[in-house]
Amino acid sequence: MIQPDDPWGFEEEPVETWNDLLSAQAVDILPLIAFLLLAYVSFHRKSVRLKYVTLAASVLYMGFAKSNLLSITDVFRVVDWSFPPFRHNIAWYLFAGFTVVSTVLWGRFYCGRVCAYGAFTQLMDAILPSSWRVDVPKGIEKRAGYIKFGILATVLAYYAVTHNTMVYRYVEPFWMFGRSESSVLLWAMLGTLLAATVFVRNLYCRFLCPLGATLGVISFLTVFKIKRWSECKTCKICEKTCEWGAIEGPRIIQTECVRCDDCERVYADEAKCPHWRILDYKKRKGGTIPLTAVRS
Ligand code: SF4
Ligand code: SF4
Repeated sequence: MIQPDDPWGFEEEPVETWNDLLSAQAVDILPLIAFLLLAYVSFHRKSVRLKYVTLAASVLYMGFAKSNLLSITDVFRVVDWSFPPFRHNIAWYLFAGFTVVSTVLWGRFYCGRVCAYGAFTQLMDAILPSSWRVDVPKGIEKRAGYIKFGILATVLAYYAVTHNTMVYRYVEPFWMFGRSESSVLLWAMLGTLLAATVFVRNLYCRFLCPLGATLGVISFLTVFKIKRWSECKTCKICEKTCEWGAIEGPRIIQTECVRCDDCERVYADEAKCPHWRILDYKKRKGGTIPLTAVRS
């Protein structure tokens, strides 16, 4: 508006400096950086205790305190190539950038310890008696793993036709943290999902999540894959250890692996992994030792 003392409207709008922008968003950016660092350190150290600290922090901070999760609506942004202004959404860019880069580097790292819903169901799994669990037969588990890709394709097709972002509420339970946009139907769906998760561990993440499916597709690019020994072709210990159905004989199924570390701990454990015992036996017999590590 033209002011009486500036009849030509020459007075400039105050320009926000980067200092102003960063100070205003520091309350979002700094705890996010601290959380992502915790997630990375827990992954790097392969520490079970730190992993559970990270999962608890994810539920409490990313979930209930901030309700800050990536979602299929962020995939819609990519479809539309329409992103929020960088200057006022630095935390979102940091979070989305971290997720994409970590997926390219290690696979579905986001699902294994950053996503609050995934963390919530992993904590459920750790707390509930294991005798309640139903182990899904391998053949069904493998086929059920494709459902999430079907849901992703269906939701993207629906969005391409309608441009209705609100569809996310019916395919993602993440709204439960902010309790926004809820309805009796949505609570009933969530209740059913959580009740089923009591018996089938990580049900949503393994079979239904369209964001997990998106990250699964990106994880075909994984740079640092889990190493496997040549003995993995016949040994089934890691395959039985994996709670995500992501190991098939010697092969890691990249789309399903969430880098939970469980198999990597077995792999490195000289008391559990037959590779080390065979190595030890060969050493004692004075034979030559083929120290073979293969990438899946
Ligand atoms: S599969 Fe979906 S819900 Fe599960 S951890 Fe990944 S993004 Fe979260
Ligand atoms: S046990 Fe291994 S293969 Fe299975 S999800 Fe965890 S890291 Fe991936």
